[in-house]
Amino acid sequence: HSTKAVAWEPNKPLVIEDVEVAPPQANEVRIKIVATGMCHTDLYILFESMKKESFPMILGHEAAGIIESVGPGVTEFQPGDKVIPLFISQCRECRFCKSPKTNQCEKGWIETQHVLKDSRFTCKGKKIEQFAGTSTFSQYTVVNQMAVAKIDPSAPLDKVCLIGCGICTGYGAAVNTAKVEPGSTCAVFGLGAVGLAAVMGCKAAGAKKIFAVDINPEKFEKAKVFGATDFVNPKDYDKPISQVLAEMTNGGVDYSLECVGNVEVMRSALESCVKGWGISVVVGWTELHDVATRPVQLIAGRTWKGSMFGGFKGKDGVPEMVKAYLGKKLLVDEFITHNMTLDQVNDAIELMKHGKCIRTVLNPFPQ
Ligand code: NAD
Ligand code: ZN
Repeated sequence: HSTKAVAWEPNKPLVIEDVEVAPPQANEVRIKIVATGMCHTDLYILFESMKKESFPMILGHEAAGIIESVGPGVTEFQPGDKVIPLFISQCRECRFCKSPKTNQCEKGWIETQHVLKDSRFTCKGKKIEQFAGTSTFSQYTVVNQMAVAKIDPSAPLDKVCLIGCGICTGYGAAVNTAKVEPGSTCAVFGLGAVGLAAVMGCKAAGAKKIFAVDINPEKFEKAKVFGATDFVNPKDYDKPISQVLAEMTNGGVDYSLECVGNVEVMRSALESCVKGWGISVVVGWTELHDVATRPVQLIAGRTWKGSMFGGFKGKDGVPEMVKAYLGKKLLVDEFITHNMTLDQVNDAIELMKHGKCIRTVLNPFPQ
């Protein structure tokens, strides 16, 4: 039995429940979650997408923990290993895993309604669905070994949990997907953890100018810490932000990254790119609306791309990102604005809803 924050229905507070977590079956591991961040995608599922058929579920997908037990056939992990669960598996066998071009392993939950069917959770006689194949707002979760990355045993789990989503997502979108070049000019729309990690990625790739764009000016100070050089609040202008950026950059930026999840912003980000070679990456998540632009924007030589988990193959990329942090080549602590217990999960949701945090790290096992 284990304490978990269960989402019984969309648009309602999570409820702390005693949930039964069955032992791991063949090729599965049971993970004790030591720390979990909250990401905007958790809020999206609860308040925006609200696919009724996916509830009840346990949210959370950005975590770090310790292997508690392993099922038959597991050779890669043993109890005590420090790990990060992966919301994109890496089976190493499917045609997507075999291609260096993508991280879209086909063994995961991605083709389903956000949840991996056949979870190991039951509560009050009801099966509880496993969000993103992870469900980390919990003391224990059971995951297939292909969706787990083993990390350096010296890594502080209450920090590196953020490498399980937000940091890889934004950083990799800049470095792996946009492939930002030295000396370039970039614009990042949305300065939550994902956008700030994108700013950090642009800087690491050698960008000389990084515009940080947000409608909440409280985010600009943090963006400076991660390497932003210029700050733009669309609310300060009465013309389209793409026009504002074009005027500031002699025709547009070389790279833009949308880290909001709003189709209007996706369009602005694309149209903020310079013609000829500008690349815009969609990182923010939504399935609710179509995204549009005039074809001439693309005909003129702009490229529109998307990025999930920053293009990282998790088993390979996550341990490397943890190493980069331990080697002081990657900022992680700077994203954490709040620490709470899992019982306070609804307070953490309120903070994010109102733009009052970057990341809250939740502890499922408070003393
Ligand atoms: P967040 O809520 O912490 O940050 C979003 C930021 O966008 C806020 O600072 C907000 O003020 C800003 N914003 C809102 N409207 C804006 C506008 N019109 N113009 C400019 N800025 C605006 O969220 P987060 O956790 O950083 O996540 C960001 C997005 O990335 C979400 O859509 C999330 O679902 C998505 N996401 C995608 C992936 C992926 O693999 N592609 C992974 C994780 C998260
Ligand atoms: Zn996330």
